[in-house]
Amino acid sequence: MPKWTQPVTEALQADGLRLEDLDTSGTPGFSGDKKSGQQLLAERATVLSGLQERLYANGRSGDHRSVLLVLQGMDTAGKGGIVRHVIGSVDPQGVDHAAFGVPTPEEQQHHYLWRIRNALPRAGQLGVFDRSHYEDVLVVRVHNLVPPSEWEPRYDEINAFERELVEQGTTLVKVAMFVSLDEQKRRLRERLERPDKYWKFNPSDIDERAYWPAYHEAYQAMLDRTSTDCAPWYVLPTDKKWFARLAVTELLIDALQKLKLEWPPADFDVAEQLRRLEKA
Ligand code: ADP
Repeated sequence: MPKWTQPVTEALQADGLRLEDLDTSGTPGFSGDKKSGQQLLAERATVLSGLQERLYANGRSGDHRSVLLVLQGMDTAGKGGIVRHVIGSVDPQGVDHAAFGVPTPEEQQHHYLWRIRNALPRAGQLGVFDRSHYEDVLVVRVHNLVPPSEWEPRYDEINAFERELVEQGTTLVKVAMFVSLDEQKRRLRERLERPDKYWKFNPSDIDERAYWPAYHEAYQAMLDRTSTDCAPWYVLPTDKKWFARLAVTELLIDALQKLKLEWPPADFDVAEQLRRLEKA
């Protein structure tokens, strides 16, 4: 019987991890194969969906809490697949999704956290960030889009920002996704060989491959400096898509379970309403 041999939060924890030691084809903490992983995912998706409905129900009843899944990863790491297959298993009414690309002229006029603050999940929502404020210490650092004197203080600033979010009732689930250079090549080739995938291809993705070592350095600094007690990073190997989906499902289940959500009690007299209904 395949199972988690370790809680997912421990199996994927970033503390002390060196990216050069990461096996991107691994399935840390999980002993099963693809078929069993997919079977388990189907079961766990139902659990996730039930918990998310409780979060939503509580939000509708005045609870201010929310959960925010932050997905960071290089092109083809599988961020879109997580949104489609994991977030796709819950009620879309309860999802606040935001994707962050190259800042628009309007966004450029503001502090880098401005667009992030504007996209934070509302009470009771499951927020999803496809890329995030971390781009401002990743692509920005790798491509010298601003000088080091400007990006360097951002690590501390981001930690303070996230602490504030947590104190306000948002649970952050930060997932850094890593695919191998070989697997990335295979996925990019597939985008070029299949007309139904052309839309995902961007010629600059090929140029970015030359910056792989610089990205690794920037990702390592991000993990070392912004994995905090209140908002830890999880490091996810994503060569195996089924594992990535299962692991993120488990991380979200864990985060939601920790909120200890009950169904909100009726704010009306149930017996009286039943009596009224019978007569209506
Ligand atoms: P995707 O490639 O994820 O499908 P987009 O093409 O819309 O999405 O945008 C992603 C691109 O935007 C990535 O190359 C990313 O590095 C870049 N990007 C995101 N945030 C920033 C930022 N703050 N500064 C510069 N580039 C950014």
